[in-house]
Amino acid sequence: MRFKLKILIYWLQILLLPKFRSRKAIDDFQKKRMNVFAKKILTKSKFYRAFMLNGQFDWQAVPQITKTEFMEAFDSINTCQISIDVAMKLALEAEVSRDFKNKINGITVGLSTGTSGKRALFLVSENERAWWVALVMARVMKPKFFKKQKVAFFLRANSNLYASVASNLFEFRYFDIFKPISGLLEELSDYSPDILAAQPSILMDIADAKRKKFVSICPIQLISFAEVLHQQDKECIESVFGVPITEVYQCTEGFLGVSCEYGTMHLNEDFIRFDKEWIDEDKFYPIITDFSRQSQPMVNYKLNDILQLRKTECACGSKLLAIEKIIGRDDDVLLLDNKKVFPDLIARRIAIATNAFQKYTIAQVGKNKLEVCLETEETEWEQARQAFEYALNNLLREQGILGTTLEFKSKLNTIQGNKLRKIKRDI
Ligand SMILES: [Zn+2]
Repeated sequence: MRFKLKILIYWLQILLLPKFRSRKAIDDFQKKRMNVFAKKILTKSKFYRAFMLNGQFDWQAVPQITKTEFMEAFDSINTCQISIDVAMKLALEAEVSRDFKNKINGITVGLSTGTSGKRALFLVSENERAWWVALVMARVMKPKFFKKQKVAFFLRANSNLYASVASNLFEFRYFDIFKPISGLLEELSDYSPDILAAQPSILMDIADAKRKKFVSICPIQLISFAEVLHQQDKECIESVFGVPITEVYQCTEGFLGVSCEYGTMHLNEDFIRFDKEWIDEDKFYPIITDFSRQSQPMVNYKLNDILQLRKTECACGSKLLAIEKIIGRDDDVLLLDNKKVFPDLIARRIAIATNAFQKYTIAQVGKNKLEVCLETEETEWEQARQAFEYALNNLLREQGILGTTLEFKSKLNTIQGNKLRKIKRDI
């Protein structure tokens, strides 16, 4: 009950957060909250305590860090006196046993492996779990007070963080995406969820199954997270289900943004400050300071995601930073002939060129070499291959990139359950 009460309190707090009328109002709000955060939380962190001088926190002096430094300084950054060895042991044991209930001093330990293979650990206290649930309720899954909504949640690994959404308002079923998709689809049909939440590649599989009438679900809300949602996939999924997708920008590092009713992604600037390292006039790496975190502060932390800023105001009226699209991770950007080729551009060209495929991945596997894995109906493969070859060669020529060879394969080289990166640099 105590936990549910916390959720309710946080939920009200989030609903009562100010609706900002200007950029200055957001900056002022952040400054105030960050100073409170420094005094209350950062003073508990050995790493950050040093930047507190005479009651003032020296934000300018705080080093910028990435996942690597963050993990190296794990023991001194976290405020719960948990060592990386103890946390890692617990997290790895949970991955094997698939029992995610273990905690250290009331703190849940999560492990993110990512496709880079680099491990990251995250610590979440009970308060933070309650905050997360409240946030999801306020911004993603809006509760209906007279009807319990059934949520089908496709996840890579379970943890108490997600399971805690279950309540009087939501019934929650977790689908382990490591299990074969055929069994999952059967279970999904039986469950008949009101809300379907999954990464885009799984949503695509389910949309495909619905089109072929293998599943008959009619959710009223779709939620996508964890992978880049390409525009073409978005349109395809939305047309099959007839409902819009709520896109959630959530990663190990936090709940960073969510799309509004107009489909625009807004960053959660009311509890995370986003500084920008510009790549060109509208693309940047976000550097985040999350002033809602308690157990494991994220301060001046550079993500390797590339975001593209939206240049026009969103019709919803929100002043929170609007993102045109999440382009992907830094290593999703191909680097050919010393020129950057952004994955969304490639995905767009492919979508324009052909529809005659089920799935594809494009990986840069050498300095001048792309590997294209293409799954189609058997009779359509050669036609699709030619369309891909034509589209890619044209695009490369336009970019002034010479001498790139394409190698085609007829089977995707992916592991079920892993995040699908459609386009990536793999060298
Ligand atoms: Zn909006």
